[in-house]
Amino acid sequence: MRLAFICKYCNEETPLNFVVGDRFRFLVMHGENYSCRCAKCGALNEIHVNRIYARTNKPLLIVSLIFTFGMMIYLSNHFYTNYVSGRSLNIGLRGVFIVAAGLLIPLFIWSCLYLFELGKIRRFNDHRV
Ligand SMILES: [Zn+2]
Repeated sequence: MRLAFICKYCNEETPLNFVVGDRFRFLVMHGENYSCRCAKCGALNEIHVNRIYARTNKPLLIVSLIFTFGMMIYLSNHFYTNYVSGRSLNIGLRGVFIVAAGLLIPLFIWSCLYLFELGKIRRFNDHRV
């Protein structure tokens, strides 16, 4: 989750480097109006806490996806070499399931984490103070 605001002078997004769970906590820590310079035009913005919004952290999302795909390739290959390859030809469908498990386990873990992240974002954006 990444917090950001839209500059009222140039309409560009500026990310904020805070790690807070919800809007109320942001209010407690930084007050109702937060002063911050726009990263694009440099204008000083007085941002009301309700103008701050949460969105996905794109770089982190990309890194986590690359890691997940790496794990999918590694695990399916690992399962294949250890449990499928070299066994009798009768393994057939079971072999397919074993390799599929190697692909699906990392994807499942990633999906759970991503849904958790989306839940946090929705919670932040839905609750105004
Ligand atoms: Zn600006």
